[in-house]
Amino acid sequence: MRIVITGGAGFIGSHLCDRALAEGCDVVAVDNLITGRMENLRHLEGDRRFSFVLHDISKPVAVDGPVDGILHFASPASPEDYLRHPIQTLKVGSLGTHNVLGLARAKGAAVVLASTSEVYGDPLVHPQPESYWGNVNSVGPRSCYDEAKRFSEAITMAYHREHGVRTRIVRIFNTYGPRMALEDGRVLPNFLCQALRGRPLTIYGDGSQTRSFCYVSDLVDGIWRLLGTDESMPVNLGNPEEMTIRAFGERILAATGSPSAFEARPLPQDDPKVRRPDITRARRILGWEPKVSLDEGLQPTVADFRSRLNQ
Ligand code: UDP
Repeated sequence: MRIVITGGAGFIGSHLCDRALAEGCDVVAVDNLITGRMENLRHLEGDRRFSFVLHDISKPVAVDGPVDGILHFASPASPEDYLRHPIQTLKVGSLGTHNVLGLARAKGAAVVLASTSEVYGDPLVHPQPESYWGNVNSVGPRSCYDEAKRFSEAITMAYHREHGVRTRIVRIFNTYGPRMALEDGRVLPNFLCQALRGRPLTIYGDGSQTRSFCYVSDLVDGIWRLLGTDESMPVNLGNPEEMTIRAFGERILAATGSPSAFEARPLPQDDPKVRRPDITRARRILGWEPKVSLDEGLQPTVADFRSRLNQ
């Protein structure tokens, strides 16, 4: 199989490159590097089954030769990144997804669209099943990401229904692991860098908002399983172990042995108050559920952050 991975130099994209190569596929990674980093792919240099194309997928794309699958993971994905690049975020979700679907149609390839728990917005249903339509502010600061992803789901379904393209949609909940950008502003990189530097952990609001954190190898395994199905309706992937952000901070302090204190900061506008995936469909359709506990997943993540901070 020959697989194209957009956003291949990103956190999840680069782990997908590793998985596809381990499965015996040839891999073409496409990235414009606005948030992706070549460092994430350095270990693949010299692998003849791997190639990298520097390209903005929001612009038309041509790929020579056969393509069996496309994993569309290009997009800024941390709130700070998409607030910095709102137009690029909207373009990659809309024009980029259109280009990917056109490529898939031309090549007869299957597509996995990376969607997000953000399609549920600040959810009024908890935990969130795929059947929930969401509570999104279409003009708020997060709308560039939320609405881009909602549009990308809509155009993916349209290509499936009108052109019979083999599409899959994965709604990804908070995921962490080695290779996350140190400075992307998400809670895990912030807390880990702060803890390892002995600085206070910045808690936005009162820290009572909740998230559920999935280790990257579990997520990648679910995505790979989804690629192998013919399930066109969205599937949530994430870890249902939910905790408050304050409790998450305590876990980071324990995992790093850091003496850091907490420091309160204002809560960003439209920050979802709760988030936890209902993974009933993933369990049924993919026979999947997360295997890696937070404490297990934090070990390699802390080691990776420690070594990069010491470079
Ligand atoms: N957060 C925090 N301190 C930080 C960064 C984030 O308290 O330094 C909070 C943020 O307000 C949110 C949660 O942690 O409630 C997760 O934020 P993140 O940016 O990781 O992504 P989100 O889940 O909101 O997309």
